[in-house]
Amino acid sequence: MQHTPRHRIVVLGAGYAGAVAAGRLARRLRSEDAAITLVNAEPHFVERVRMHQLAVGQDLRTRPLDAMFAHTGVDVRIARVTGVDADRRAVSVTGPDGAAELAYDTLVYALGSAWDPQDVPGAVEHAHEIAGRAGALRLRERLAGLEAGGSVVVVGGGLTGLEAASEIAEARPDLDVSLTARGGLGDWLSPGGRRHLRKVFAALGITAYENAPVTAVAADHVVTADGTSVPADVTVWTTGFAVHPLARATTLEVTDTGRIVVDATMRSVSHPDVYAVGDAALAAGPGGKPLRMSCASGVPTAWQAADAIAARLTGGKLPNVTPRYFNQCISLGRGQGLIQYVTADDRAVRGALTGRLAALYKELVCKSAAWGVANPTLGIPTRRRPVTAPAPQPATTG
Ligand SMILES: Cc1cc2nc3c(=O)[nH]c(=O)nc-3n(C[C@H](O)[C@H](O)[C@H](O)COP(=O)(O)OP(=O)(O)OC[C@H]3O[C@@H](n4cnc5c(N)ncnc54)[C@H](O)[C@@H]3O)c2cc1C
Repeated sequence: MQHTPRHRIVVLGAGYAGAVAAGRLARRLRSEDAAITLVNAEPHFVERVRMHQLAVGQDLRTRPLDAMFAHTGVDVRIARVTGVDADRRAVSVTGPDGAAELAYDTLVYALGSAWDPQDVPGAVEHAHEIAGRAGALRLRERLAGLEAGGSVVVVGGGLTGLEAASEIAEARPDLDVSLTARGGLGDWLSPGGRRHLRKVFAALGITAYENAPVTAVAADHVVTADGTSVPADVTVWTTGFAVHPLARATTLEVTDTGRIVVDATMRSVSHPDVYAVGDAALAAGPGGKPLRMSCASGVPTAWQAADAIAARLTGGKLPNVTPRYFNQCISLGRGQGLIQYVTADDRAVRGALTGRLAALYKELVCKSAAWGVANPTLGIPTRRRPVTAPAPQPATTG
């Protein structure tokens, strides 16, 4: 009897999006038909949404990837991805056993994002970042060594900046914490949400510099656009995320910021055997508006990609759900929070949940996101169908 080779699916990145995509694929496809490999640089899942907590000294639960994926049929490979050849369908990795190449029939690209110093002079040299574990741990060490009366400036008035400033001010009331925002403080929030934010900032003693984009960072201060110098023993940079430069070095179609352009099924518009999910992808949300880099939209893009891959391989029905937003969940330290309800395309509506209940809600959201990743195949109904798609043609070489 002739043996049909298994369809090789390689998932790059085991963050929220990649881990969820791998688990869902394992639930949708039969192991005799598909070989799923999940590649990640670190051996543990990193809960990025808690990096500000890690930075102030809180300890996070360790979640080893091999334990998470034991008995799921997903083969976890700890290695750093160094290149993707989307025309030859091959990924270069380097791991404990040295350099290697992984061939794939379908690729799911989920390498996430990192901090974005935005070419501001001095930011790379002097600022700390909390977009990943290594940066958060460096900041943790720096804050632990900072004496009472020291100054901390959080640059960036987005969700991450608000969470970081509140967390630091709550954990270290002996420090002088401020935040610089490009616009007004929380100016995208509802009036009630803004009021609550100001109240909490006042209670925590955080100074807000509004309409004050930072134009330079030095070792002991930052400079804002109007020339104001704000003392900063420690600068924390949170002005948005930038994707890994790896995608830009491929022949995949990417945006000018390097995000992979995908269709409604998260399939690359230039390479039909490549899917991109999470921060790495530029996907359209409701009304065609690009989804913002977040778990809130990254996890649904992973569901969408996994279901689309399975449907195309097994002759099933393609998913037809546009990822949408419901709320923005902001922690303001451990005791306070702000849940801003939003439209499907992420614009604030009047309603907002505030206070301790909002903090609890946010904690529940973080816990359930981590639970979904740590139990990648639980709670997903098994719908394994045989693969019916024709065996993939050999990739072109050259
Ligand atoms: C402090 C903070 C708070 C946040 N709060 C929220 C929030 O409240 N709500 C929300 O929705 N979003 C929040 N976010 C954003 C959210 O964390 C990201 O949007 C989300 O993590 C993106 O998921 P992802 O799977 O695309 O990427 P990631 O979670 O970044 O995962 C990428 C994975 O790829 C791996 N990787 C990267 N490069 C390589 C390589 N070369 N080789 C191998 N592996 C590699 C990484 O190790 C990682 O495991 C927050 C982010 C931060 C930093």
